[in-house]
Amino acid sequence: MKLNRILLPALAFSAALCTAQTKTLDMYFIDVEGGHASLYVSPSGESMLIDTGSPGARDVDRMMEVITGAGLKQLDYMVLSHYHSDHVGGLEELAKRIPIKHFIDHGESVEPREQVPGFQKMYAELYSKIPRTVVKPGDKIPVAGLNVVVATSAAKVLKTPMAGAPGAGKPNPECATFTPRDESRVDPDNPQSVGLVISLGKFRHVNLADFTWNVEKDLMCPNNPIGTVDLYLTSHHGIDQSGSPALVHALQPRVAVMHNSARKGGAVQTMQTLRTSPGLEDIWQLHWAYAAGIEHNAPGVFIANLEEPAVLANALTNPPPTFGQGRGPGGPPPAGAAPGAGGAAGAGGPPAGGPPSGAPRGGGGGRGPGHTGPAFLIQVSAAADGSFTVTNTRNGFSKKYAARK
Ligand SMILES: [Zn+2]
Repeated sequence: MKLNRILLPALAFSAALCTAQTKTLDMYFIDVEGGHASLYVSPSGESMLIDTGSPGARDVDRMMEVITGAGLKQLDYMVLSHYHSDHVGGLEELAKRIPIKHFIDHGESVEPREQVPGFQKMYAELYSKIPRTVVKPGDKIPVAGLNVVVATSAAKVLKTPMAGAPGAGKPNPECATFTPRDESRVDPDNPQSVGLVISLGKFRHVNLADFTWNVEKDLMCPNNPIGTVDLYLTSHHGIDQSGSPALVHALQPRVAVMHNSARKGGAVQTMQTLRTSPGLEDIWQLHWAYAAGIEHNAPGVFIANLEEPAVLANALTNPPPTFGQGRGPGGPPPAGAAPGAGGAAGAGGPPAGGPPSGAPRGGGGGRGPGHTGPAFLIQVSAAADGSFTVTNTRNGFSKKYAARK
């Protein structure tokens, strides 16, 4: 009691300080079914959306629900990481629904064929009226109240260690065992992705969009320019074309959020790399992932969107799928595999006998089928002291991660 009395004046003072400091960076990892749309709202109220999901009303509706729910009347920065349909597909419709104040991208697409037909023409019309900045590594996106640094853009990478970042500039021991991948079949705009390091005070987060395995080495070897982070958005939706140990184990995230869909991402190798990463505390997923199976998916409480119980039951009682990349099948499903456990893309979904009751299925964004029913998200709220809270909006489960000592 005596102690309390002594502390009272100090507490009153710190309470006033607290009011000024309780403003958070709020992050919304929106379920766009294996595409990408991550919304960031700074303590200043300024906003940045990275990517816009796939074409069609489904993803735009989901984004707008989150944007308006966050109380936003405009998007201050619209980052287009690269030009694939699961990232820019929703832009045309989104731009009709909410004012966009600034575009950020890596420059022109390096692919001759557009995944979204007519996109470049439509985008050029938009940025003839709205400022557009082509960024390079080391540039800052001036979201008021945040430190947003470009780590990758147009296949170029940050080389100068980030000033003041813990661990930045240190040699990366994982480089010695780095094994390059054959990326000849990787769509060439992926390694062009605009990748960002987003910080509020001591809290640090990395979102590299679809930046790929081999260029991760360019970024992270021989020295790690980024240092360690608190939150890592699994590159490339958790497909194992990205997310090498050289990247993940050097970043040492405390928490990974995976923006996978049921049939895209959640690759076994990706999950293993995460689970063996020093200091990793939890993996949160936007979806149950068939590729990860029962062995590698996070516990259900960390998963925002589950499959229908009947579909899951089939998956769990049949042999594991043979594909490994986490982006659909690498071959025919094993004999006796349940529908939905790894068949051809588009063939997954309801078990034989018709769709389960509840949400309609089919359609789909990204490269696999997706559901069109209610969609839940992973929400993160971070404070300048480095503490943050992650919430699964499906079940309301929240976990607070205290600031590092
Ligand atoms: Zn993608």
